[in-house]
Amino acid sequence: MPASRSVTRAVGAVLDLAPRRGEVSLTRLVDAVSEDRGRPIELTTADLPPGVCGQWRQYVDRDVFLIQKGLPAWDRTLAHELGHLVLGHEGIPVVDAALENTEMASSDLISYMLNQRTGCMGPNGEDLEQEAEDFAALLLYRLGRLPSDRASIVQVRLGEAFG
Ligand SMILES: [Zn+2]
Repeated sequence: MPASRSVTRAVGAVLDLAPRRGEVSLTRLVDAVSEDRGRPIELTTADLPPGVCGQWRQYVDRDVFLIQKGLPAWDRTLAHELGHLVLGHEGIPVVDAALENTEMASSDLISYMLNQRTGCMGPNGEDLEQEAEDFAALLLYRLGRLPSDRASIVQVRLGEAFG
């Protein structure tokens, strides 16, 4: 299934923020999005519940993407969480989440965190998950087709010149 127009547009908007110099990696894109929004985005690994790949936590002053520790395709999960963020999939208020999961019911957590979105299936249905998946697939595909850094561009040109 081809990605929807809103997903295609969101991927284009993120790639437009890519630094013009140096290597454009996924983590650099995350930095660029964070700068554009004027809100820090932190990346961290965590021991999430089994079967969960990633979690997006929205705090008052920053966003945090948690990636399951030891996940082999972490870049896919990171791109997926970034998709939720740029597509405006807010997740659920932490107070509600805390009611469902007693582990989360620490008053600290509730006062600092506004919303969270956990895992590969969210409470807002599969449509938003599919959108985030489409975003991740398209972003990583287009990222893979960008020249990885200036050195490699120079090498290609040298190759053409001498080849
Ligand atoms: Zn998701």
